[in-house]
Order: sequence, then structure tokens, then C-alpha cells
Amino acid sequence: MASLQEYKTHIGGQWVPAESGETFESEDPYTGEPWALIPRCGARDVDKAVEAAYAAWESGPWAETTATARGRMMRKLGDLIAENAEALARTEVRDNGKLMSEMHAQCKYLPEWYYFYGGLADKVEGSVIASDKPDILNYTLREPIGVCAMIVPWNSPLLLVAWKLAPALAAGCTCVIKPSEFTSASLLDFMKLVERAGFPPGVVNVVTGTGKEAGEPLVTHPKVAKVAFTGGGLTGRRVYELAARGLKKVSLELGGKSPNIVFDDCIMDDAVNGVISGIFAATGQTCIAGSRALVQESIHDEFMEKLIEVARQARMGDPKLPETQVGPITTPPQYEKVLDYIGIAKDEGALCVLGGGPAGADEGGGKYFIKPTIFDNVTNDMRIAQEEVFGPVLSVITFKDEEDAIRIGNDVVYGLAAGVWTQNIKRATIMARRLRAGTVWINTYRAVSVTSPFGGYKQSGIGRENGQAAINEYLQTKSVWISTAEGSGNPFVMKVAGSS
Ligand code: NAD
Repeated sequence: MASLQEYKTHIGGQWVPAESGETFESEDPYTGEPWALIPRCGARDVDKAVEAAYAAWESGPWAETTATARGRMMRKLGDLIAENAEALARTEVRDNGKLMSEMHAQCKYLPEWYYFYGGLADKVEGSVIASDKPDILNYTLREPIGVCAMIVPWNSPLLLVAWKLAPALAAGCTCVIKPSEFTSASLLDFMKLVERAGFPPGVVNVVTGTGKEAGEPLVTHPKVAKVAFTGGGLTGRRVYELAARGLKKVSLELGGKSPNIVFDDCIMDDAVNGVISGIFAATGQTCIAGSRALVQESIHDEFMEKLIEVARQARMGDPKLPETQVGPITTPPQYEKVLDYIGIAKDEGALCVLGGGPAGADEGGGKYFIKPTIFDNVTNDMRIAQEEVFGPVLSVITFKDEEDAIRIGNDVVYGLAAGVWTQNIKRATIMARRLRAGTVWINTYRAVSVTSPFGGYKQSGIGRENGQAAINEYLQTKSVWISTAEGSGNPFVMKVAGSS
């Protein structure tokens, strides 16, 4: 076996091993072989990282860095990401099994988060309040909330870190990031760029390790003021409960079971493409997967014929090759989970019309490959329609009319996203209004932008990332009162309206 690449983590401006000296292996999901050794951090490492972040925020050079200078550093970081996009993409493909074509697009666009929020850094303004009291000047300051814990899943580490880190840095916060234990390498590579961009020690720290050993001590650390989490619903609930004990501010980006709704007045080829992109892009390992295709009864047969024909041609293979369209499942437990759900769907009576199991080497598969799978005749009460699979498994459900589509579309605990395929603008507008989801795409799917708010309704999350307002997740407001009155008034009476 080739020797493993040894990583160190980054705490307080230093490249360090875990205090225990322990490491864990990271696997290449295409070959199934370990390729990197990652420090196995625990509570002591978390404490060091949070203390470093706290010192940088409270008294370190970061506290004195102007918002304009912060913005400049962030734009420098954006430039460095652009220069190193290819190398970052290569690490993520190796560690995560994401397609090189997808990572090319992601890493090329990634700098935009640091440019956008870097530009916003010195546009955070308080206001002068129109006071209802004489002799009072009352104004607000919008201040960084403090040390932010950022916990991300394995499916898009660099992107999901950017959604948190960029607004947090712009707000003046400091951070401790915990990547998934399955995909830590790309973030550690990224930290070299953070260092080169000139961020002072302690502003951005990383603790690598498991949820239990590194994640929980981070969420519960008394000096962490805010937790920004992306991951599964069960973990999100645990993180929320732990953070509540310390009354921390929390934002959660969780799972989804998004409906991709195809009306009989759609442009059929576009809708087929959109449904494919919703479930088979990123091998279905995306929170916004359009895992329920709701197809109007009147076009069901024609639509399914075209859908299966296109899906059948999806090319599985080495994620490094530009022609590959469907890659491996990223982690062994996830691979087992997807296969379990395929079994559950079959037991529930759903009709498997494509795929339905592991893909062998003759089909382009490697160690953890699952064929693009389509279940027809699904009813919305089946587990395959209600629970997040997080893999290339599509459930097709038919509906009669708009009302039926809305009822089925909304009948899940999630509310992350929805797609609608129609040429009727009135129908599109009604659907956009009535679907309970944080994002609704009309005649497109899986479009995201740094400028546009993203987040979940219902059990898909709390708070919003991206867009200007996301910076508020990392700010708190202080109200400052200055009296210009003679004397300080009656000490036993509250200074309410009209009195100073
Ligand atoms: P996960 O919930 O298992 O893990 C997410 C992160 O939480 C990892 O870093 C993990 O180590 C950490 N963690 C686990 N237990 C913890 C604990 N007790 N305390 C603190 N941290 C803990 O999720 P995953 O399997 O890595 O990722 C897949 C999930 O992420 C899916 O459900 C998907 O929908 C969701 N996701 C959501 C979005 C979104 O923006 N809404 C984006 C991508 C992924």
C-alpha cells in the first residue's frame, strides 16, 4: 500500500497534531483505499482552538482590525482560492468522490463568497434611533457575536464552510470549524490559503475528528457564542439541544425530501433533464436532491419513458474523469444506508424501473457504487417518499391537478426546496407561493448563488445562509444611550416615554 499523506490540523496559527497524537484514516471512495491520515482531535484540542479564537476576537489583532481591512483580507483569500482552485478540487475529488466536473464548477465559483461578504464587511451599519425622549441620543452598534463553531457534513465541505465562514469573518467573528471525519483533507488544504491571506492566528481554527469526540465539546464549549451546523436531522436536533443548554445562537441547515413537480404543460425534455439533475447529479448526495418526482397523471407514461431512457445512459466511473456523470457513494455507512432504502422501497411495493442495486466494475462502478435507481408507483406515505435517502434513488408519484400536487408536495416533514416544471406563469406563481420550502425553482433545479438566501422551512432548518441578510446570523445589536439632560432624574422611576 502506498504511504498515507499525513495531515496536521490548524489551531491558533500553528499546524499541530492532535494532543493525543492519535490519527484516523481517510478513504478514497472510488478505490476504497485509505490515502490520508487526519489528526483525531478531542476535547483538549477543541479547548485550545476555542481559547485561541476567543483571544483573537476579544483582544488579539482581529479585534483591532478594521472592517475595511477584514474585507481586503477576504478578497485576497478569494484570489488565492481562484489561483488554487484546481488543487482544491483534486483533493476534494480524492477524499469525497465528487465529480471533477462538479468540483471544477464549485471551486471556480467558491471565491465569490469571499468577494461578496468581503465587500459587505464595511457596509454593516447601525442606525440613529428617532428617540421619543428629549435630551437623548440613541444609536445602535452591530457587533460580532464572538466565537462561532461551524460543523459541516461530508458532501460539500469547502462550499458549505464558505457559506458560514465568509459572513462570519465579514461580521468580525472568529471561528472553529469541524469538518466531517470522512472528508477533512480539503479544508486543511484550504487553511494554507487562509494563512497566506494574512488572517491573524486564532481567527480561523480547525478541529478534525468525530462528532462525539470533537463536535460535542465544540458545541458545548462555554466560550462558543454561535453554532452554525449543516448535516442530518438527527444530528441537528442533538446539536440544537446541546447548544440550548448554553443558550447559544444556532443556525441549522438540515435534510430534505424535495418534490420536483412536472405538469403536463412543461417542456418535456427540459423537465426530464431537471428531474435527472435533481436526483442523479452529485450522485444524489445533496440536501436539495429532488428525490420525489411528482408527475401529472396525464403525461406519466410518456415522461417515464423519456426519463428512464436518459437515466439509463448516465455514465458511472472514476470521478476524476471529465466524462463521468455518476460517482461513488462517499462513505461506507452511507452506501449501506442507500442499499437499505432500496430494499425498503421494494418491500413497500414500489416498482423498481431502473437500477436497484450496486454497480459492478463492468458498469463503471468501483467499491461504493449504486446504480441510478428509479421507483415508480410510489405513494407519498411510503418511507421511500418520506425519509431522506441521500443517494441516487428517485421516487415517482403521480398527481391529478395543482391542488393535489401542492398537497403531496407539502406532505413531508421537510421543506428545503421544490422544483416546478410548467409553461403557465400563473400556475408557476401559485406553486411558488403555496409550496412550503425555502427555495422554489421554476423550470430549473439545483441553482444556488451567494446572493440568494438559502435555508429550510419546517424540519429542514433554522436560519438562512447566503444573501446579504446572512451576515445578521453573526452579528448582535447594541443600543447606546447618551443623555444630554441636566441631572439624571428620579432614580426610583423607570425612564419611559417622554422622560429622559
Ligand atoms: P451528519 O449529521 O452525520 O454529520 C454532520 C456533521 O456533524 C459532521 O461533521 C459530524 O461529524 C458532526 N456531528 C455528528 N454528530 C455530532 C454531535 N453529536 N455533535 C456535534 N457534531 C456532530 O451528516 P452527514 O452524514 O455528514 O451529511 C449528510 C446530511 O447533511 C444529510 O442529511 C444532508 O441533507 C445534510 N446536508 C444539508 C445541507 C443544507 O444546506 N441544508 C447541505 C448538505 C448536507
